[in-house]
Amino acid sequence: MPELAKATLLVASNNQGKIQEYGDLLQDLPLRVTWPAREGLAGDPEETGATFEENALIKARYFARLAPCYVIADDSGLEVDALGGAPGIYSARFAGPGASDAQRNQLLLARLQGVPSEKRAARFQCVIALVRPDQSESTYCGTREGCITLEPRGDRGFGYDPVFFVPELGKTFGELEPEIKNRWSHRAQAAARLLAALKSEHFRPS
Ligand code: IMP
Repeated sequence: MPELAKATLLVASNNQGKIQEYGDLLQDLPLRVTWPAREGLAGDPEETGATFEENALIKARYFARLAPCYVIADDSGLEVDALGGAPGIYSARFAGPGASDAQRNQLLLARLQGVPSEKRAARFQCVIALVRPDQSESTYCGTREGCITLEPRGDRGFGYDPVFFVPELGKTFGELEPEIKNRWSHRAQAAARLLAALKSEHFRPS
């Protein structure tokens, strides 16, 4: 088991899109930001929780047992009102295992066929779970409201970004520069709350 210094923050994710966003969002911290694959840590714990918060804690606790440093994990997803809040915590699994982002987006648009623009409200949710080296835990959440487009727009970002339209910006997340998405996203809001909490902690170099 690799010994990670306590002054390290492990982003417990295998999703390169998320890892990249956290690297940018948390760059001001006096912690070395890393991720499991880079440290030779393997595993993909089963997300058996009923909420974003429960799933985020499952992932963070799993990697905290492997690495005695600061560990964060997020669980995030898209809630679509016209689908009763689906895909929600099943966002990554929507369209089945092995499906691509493009296939998930096509399925979502197919399910919303015939639903008029004013009834396509949706939101991204994000909960970040933090487990500290002393095993204490906290969670931080963020939300971004928007609506689902009639067809994908833009090729930036990941996941449902090309079909998620933010009225205030007049663009989908898929059309945004990463710096702009990092100011407007659900993950950015949750990360800002995490950052404020972490900045008030006293980091001890190991
Ligand atoms: P998780 O890795 O279990 O949290 O899966 C979250 C899923 O929700 C991702 O695989 C994406 O499909 C979707 N998702 C979460 N955040 C975003 C985002 O910022 N943009 C696009 N899709 C997202």
